Amino acid sequence: MTAENTGGFNTRAIHAGQAFEPRTGAVVPPVHFSSTYAQDGIGGLREGYEYGRGTNPTRDALQEQLAALEGAKYSYSFSSGLAAEDGLIRALMAPGDHIVLGNDAYGGTYRLINRVLGPWGIGHTVVDMADQARVAEAVKANKTRFVWVETPSNPMMKVTDIEALAEVAHEAGALLVVDNTFASPYLQNPLAFGADIVVHSTTKYIGGHSDVIGGAVALNDDELAEKVGFVQFAVGAVSGPLDAFLTTRGLKTLGVRMDRHSSNAQAVAEWLQGRPEVEAVYYPGLPDHPGHELAKKQMRRFGGMVSVSFNGGEAAARKIAESTRVFTLAESLGGIESLVNYPSQMTHASVKGTELAVPENLIRLSVGIEDVEDLIADLEQAFAGL
Ligand SMILES: *Cc1c(COP(=O)(O)O)cnc(C)c1O
Repeated sequence: MTAENTGGFNTRAIHAGQAFEPRTGAVVPPVHFSSTYAQDGIGGLREGYEYGRGTNPTRDALQEQLAALEGAKYSYSFSSGLAAEDGLIRALMAPGDHIVLGNDAYGGTYRLINRVLGPWGIGHTVVDMADQARVAEAVKANKTRFVWVETPSNPMMKVTDIEALAEVAHEAGALLVVDNTFASPYLQNPLAFGADIVVHSTTKYIGGHSDVIGGAVALNDDELAEKVGFVQFAVGAVSGPLDAFLTTRGLKTLGVRMDRHSSNAQAVAEWLQGRPEVEAVYYPGLPDHPGHELAKKQMRRFGGMVSVSFNGGEAAARKIAESTRVFTLAESLGGIESLVNYPSQMTHASVKGTELAVPENLIRLSVGIEDVEDLIADLEQAFAGL
């Protein structure tokens, strides 16, 4: 731990890995675009820098910042969330190994495991992570290497007990992987609850401005970390310097953004709950959400994602998704601007007809940090058209 890696979350977010540049005093460290580094005699590297796929100072700065915020010893930054997941799986698994995956995992994660890694010999079983007896059974029966969970999950906002699941995984000799994209490290640190590995799509809340694609893996174990680092280097799906810089800049304001996302989402969820057109609101900040107490235990606040289903079925969901004006109809989430998504045909189209399929009367809101009165007024005008 260096001096800039201590202190509260926001202090670490702003200072970890971000020491000023010693030659000029530049407060924001420069972005290093160089692909290669001069050697002082053969093999004479300065500060270990040799070639950009292996190490880059801007990527190192991001990795240090991310590790400090997840309470991890190591973090590795990749070119996308899925590249991070692929790197992690290929670093720590071999053909014949097996993953137990939550039944509402991100569609792209399922597609990667099912359609890309499946043919290479990685097996999987899909289970409801809330059913721990079923998880334990699946893990033991298959000599599972990873139990893979998202909490809160996408798009059903299910909350899973990380501590309990870590015990189930560890008892069977498996590792618990938590996709922490929805919560972000500000709201939840899975390693502190016994998870072994955290993955992120940094494209979402960490980058926070819908202007960069990236992913990361964070973990504590020295041996596992070395293997992930090796695959990052040997396969090369690294984040580029400008991507790493944009992610670092976004990450510095994660705490203030998440506070605002959480307050706005709470207000939107409460407004939705009072509407007769609404069948159900899925938001862990609502006291009647089944994961509310658990979320209070393992999360700092409840985040910016709200899903909602309609009494009017698929037609009503589609109509709302296509008639908001402040909420933009788009894939993705976690940016400062509010987005609306129709999962069954957009983010989750790849799981249609599988056990991960999502309801057709559901929309998902990524509640941004605009003025909340404008967000609610926008929903009001959209509802008026139903
Ligand atoms: C977006 C997302 C991913 C994939 O990340 P990319 O950066 O799009 O590759 C993985 N998990 C979750 C929960 C996501 O939302």
